[in-house]
Amino acid sequence: MHSATTRVRALQLRSREGRVQMGTLPKPAQYLLRFDDLCPTMEQQRWQPLRALVSEFGLRPILAVIPDNMDPEMKCSPSDPEFWAQMREMEAAGATIAAHGFQHRCEHRSENLIGLHRRAEFAGVSLELQSEWVAAGLRILRGHGLTPKLWVAPRHAFDMNTLRAVRTEGLGYISDGFARVPFNRGGVTWIPQQLWSPARKSKGLWTICIHSNTMRKTRFAELRSFVSRNAAQFTSFDRVVAEFEPGELDLSERIYERFALWQVRRRRKRTRRRRQR
Ligand SMILES: [Zn+2]
Repeated sequence: MHSATTRVRALQLRSREGRVQMGTLPKPAQYLLRFDDLCPTMEQQRWQPLRALVSEFGLRPILAVIPDNMDPEMKCSPSDPEFWAQMREMEAAGATIAAHGFQHRCEHRSENLIGLHRRAEFAGVSLELQSEWVAAGLRILRGHGLTPKLWVAPRHAFDMNTLRAVRTEGLGYISDGFARVPFNRGGVTWIPQQLWSPARKSKGLWTICIHSNTMRKTRFAELRSFVSRNAAQFTSFDRVVAEFEPGELDLSERIYERFALWQVRRRRKRTRRRRQR
């Protein structure tokens, strides 16, 4: 009964303005796929099946590409001469390009807005330098014939200066945060990214972030089966931009966001402790 009401309300709001208004969670849930750490030296054997999955189901993921990778952890395979052509091809087929930091060098410790990781590439760096790096990253991606539409922070580590830099360099969107709808904060629109593996949800917009470099075979099988069962609920960055009317989060969603972030932090702390044992 309750779910039917929510659905009717969502439909009414959508039909009134043609877009999902703030305060309404889409129902059924929508899923957005995001692939992180893409660069010419990423792990090829693990990436190719994911690329095949995208084309098999006509998915339109966010491709978070490192513009100028200098992170040794991302040097997993010999440099692929076809990498940039492949990204252009996937973008032409409907994927959205995101700039994933600049060089992915997460070498300093810094406080940041999300607080999931202690090491950062961007957070804690001066606004001037962050702006320079955002601009350089975009220039590199555009130089390869790509059209980056949003920004993704390495290790979720960004601060208010990062948001300012992203905005002044002409991008209006980041992919991060723990609410269940896109929202505005710090002068940009946040498209939340809350999951690192598929999970069935009843309502809201959920971004599933996949790190292909470290993805195990069992995890791939899990993702494939989830996609094949829920293919119709997968959306794209372009659709999210067209369908949602983001504003400030209302109180209940802000509370939800805090709670969700607290849960993720607690889970990560536990995993870290288990590894240290
Ligand atoms: Zn990364």
